[in-house]
Amino acid sequence: MNEPNWQAVIGLEIHMQLCTRSKLFSGAEVSYGGGPNTRACEIDVALPGVLPVLNEDALRMAIAFGLAVNAKIAPITVFARKNYFYPDLPKGYQISQYESPVVCGGSVPVRLADGSCREILLERAHLEEDAGKLIHDSSGKTSYVDLNRAGTTLIEIVSKPVISSAAEAIAYMKQIHAIGCYLEICDGNMQEGSMRCDANVSIKRSSDSVLGVRTEIKNLNSFRFVEKAIRYEIKRQIEVLEEGGRVNQETRLYDSERDETRVLRSKEEAEDYRYFPEPDLLPVQISSELIAQVRAQLPELQHLRRERFINDYALGEQDAEQLTQSKAIADYFESCLKMTELEPKLIANWMMTQLNALLNRDGLDISQAPVQPERLVALIERVADHTISAKSAKEVLATMWNDTRTAEQIIEAKGLKQISDTSQLDAIVEQILNNNPKQVAQFLSGKDKVLGYFVGQAMKASQGQADPAQLSQCFKTRLEKLKN
Ligand code: ADP
Ligand code: MG
Repeated sequence: MNEPNWQAVIGLEIHMQLCTRSKLFSGAEVSYGGGPNTRACEIDVALPGVLPVLNEDALRMAIAFGLAVNAKIAPITVFARKNYFYPDLPKGYQISQYESPVVCGGSVPVRLADGSCREILLERAHLEEDAGKLIHDSSGKTSYVDLNRAGTTLIEIVSKPVISSAAEAIAYMKQIHAIGCYLEICDGNMQEGSMRCDANVSIKRSSDSVLGVRTEIKNLNSFRFVEKAIRYEIKRQIEVLEEGGRVNQETRLYDSERDETRVLRSKEEAEDYRYFPEPDLLPVQISSELIAQVRAQLPELQHLRRERFINDYALGEQDAEQLTQSKAIADYFESCLKMTELEPKLIANWMMTQLNALLNRDGLDISQAPVQPERLVALIERVADHTISAKSAKEVLATMWNDTRTAEQIIEAKGLKQISDTSQLDAIVEQILNNNPKQVAQFLSGKDKVLGYFVGQAMKASQGQADPAQLSQCFKTRLEKLKN
């Protein structure tokens, strides 16, 4: 029997929390934390008679997202009621969008690990309000409702079913994350739930033109879980099919402790939600002036900045990718470059190794780095002009991390200056050669290796304060003269 050639088909629904200052349809403040129900007003708790008012910033942010992915912005967009019951949804419906979402179509360029590039097509992106949260008592008997999150702004970004592997799904999700952060419409904080994702997965034979039956894995809140859940689900569905079974259309949950997905409920259809246009809100007209205004304020997006870094600063793909990972990292890098004539690659190396190591160690974001561009550049310049060795520089950086002194001040205080004065170095070289006539003879008879021995001796004599590369050069010049 021929092994059927299975192909995975994946579509993601990503919920991104937009960082509007107040909620989507109420004036209540949005902020993470705060005592339960302290950030929920009459509208969020659905008192009778209250009416929603659209937050204009939310609309602008959605338009900015649409423009960033080259989508069409709807000239008239309509809000809709999605009806269902749950204790964290006091109205009994969520205000979302169904027909006429703000953002239609569009695509996102995704770079894969092997360096290849793919465009992932979007179906749509729409605005909707978030629900509250249930907090379950550890006794298992009581649940509490916290409506602080109720009514906060989400944009749901729906891809077409065109993603073909877990790795591709993650690359796509990271790109969406980067777009949100670059546009500053999302704080990107995954731990606090700023981005959550439902993954739709199906399997088909490569020769089939119709898609297979899909399952939907709900509420994945980290890149790692999205990847693991999709991998698990692909494997599970292939096994079902190979045993001659059928995949059921259903909603599943990913259990990260057991690393498996489990059935939550059979999949609901759009009809189940009784969508209808929200009677409390008028259809929203989006003028071409508003679109032009938002477009004029768009920042340079990650993929464009990455290309520019490669072209303008002669960086490799890998470096450019890392340095544009976030807007803050890219901004840090470019502020360094503004302050110095040093090679961009040199700055890049320092940022990605020494600086990164300290940031990771302390769990800090680059914007919180105790050493900001000015002090870092001054330090790297002291290495470049041979004032200190690269090894001492690490020590200086570690010290700078914990105080406010400049590199110069720390170098002075610790006495880390190298001897770079050539007359001083020549004196040491002369002394070492005089003390080691045997090794000199060996060198002259062609044994180049003794050079290392000379440099070692000279480093000792200088008490580690000379630059080995510079010493090596001095020895070579001096010994060449002896040859003739
Ligand atoms: P719903 O709103 O019921 O979840 P949609 O038709 O809007 O359904 O699709 C939601 C997501 O599911 C989209 O991202 C879409 O690409 C994806 N999707 C639809 N059909 C399939 C399929 N057969 N296999 C994988 N993903 C699919
Ligand atoms: Mg869905």
